[in-house]
Amino acid sequence: MARIVYVNGRYLPYAEAGVHVEDRGFQFADSVYEVCEVKSGALIDTTRHLARLDRSLAELKIAKPMSDAALRHVLAQIVRRNRVRDGLVYLQVTRGKAARDFLFPGETDPTLVALARPIDPYKVAAKAKSGIAVKTVPDPRWGRCDLKTVMLLPAALAKETAREAGAQEAWFVDEKGFVTEGASSNAWIVRPDGFVLTRPLDNRILGGVTRATLLDLLKAQGVPVEQRPFTVPEAQAAREAFVTSASATVMPVVSIDGHKVAEGRPGDLTKRLREKFHDLAEITPV
Ligand code: PMP
Repeated sequence: MARIVYVNGRYLPYAEAGVHVEDRGFQFADSVYEVCEVKSGALIDTTRHLARLDRSLAELKIAKPMSDAALRHVLAQIVRRNRVRDGLVYLQVTRGKAARDFLFPGETDPTLVALARPIDPYKVAAKAKSGIAVKTVPDPRWGRCDLKTVMLLPAALAKETAREAGAQEAWFVDEKGFVTEGASSNAWIVRPDGFVLTRPLDNRILGGVTRATLLDLLKAQGVPVEQRPFTVPEAQAAREAFVTSASATVMPVVSIDGHKVAEGRPGDLTKRLREKFHDLAEITPV
């Protein structure tokens, strides 16, 4: 089936979709994005994703391209037109096109792109069954990691380093030895006493939508949570570890820098949280 991409008001065949060479997203990474999970033909946690998009846009003074209702319509259309049942939808907003200059252009229309991609749910399930390996790397990123910008080169480099070490995700570590977050996920551990630990929100991490929904689930399940930074040795000695992201929901971590976590198998709490995640998530059929 031909893929369809949304670009600035038009639904175009994949091969014909593009943005201008002087788009500020291309030249300055002057651009923000969202990735939402699509599960069984429904969008997951759209309200939280749109709220985060609003925040990223407002903090960078990029104009909102259209209302939330219109954005929801585009998301639903792009999922439907590509017949994606399980996968993800990607939405990107740039400051728009303008002659290359560091200063913000006066009046430009933001660029809006949306695309959808299927992901084989069986492959993800198989990955979750075995769990993933993590490689830690120093965090070289800027001071506004709370904004979901496309400035993703540090994440791409970190994931490449992880891959070379046989790992599937990288964890960034700050100058004090605390884990900030994954290259494209939030990081969590379960302490030997059963407490779930994750870093509190600050400018060093992205406020994950999956993180927020998982905190709701943990509360509903009566699981004790402490939001505080943890170190790599603490994580290696943890009872369980996992990462969260819209594309992988709750993904068990079974080794960190080659050191096995919980005998190298996904933990029971992690498995339960993964199973129950969509009970608490917002589900919008498209
Ligand atoms: N941190 C970073 C750096 C990410 O790229 C992502 C994935 N977008 C996350 C955390 C997880 O966020 P979410 O749960 O909203 O996908």
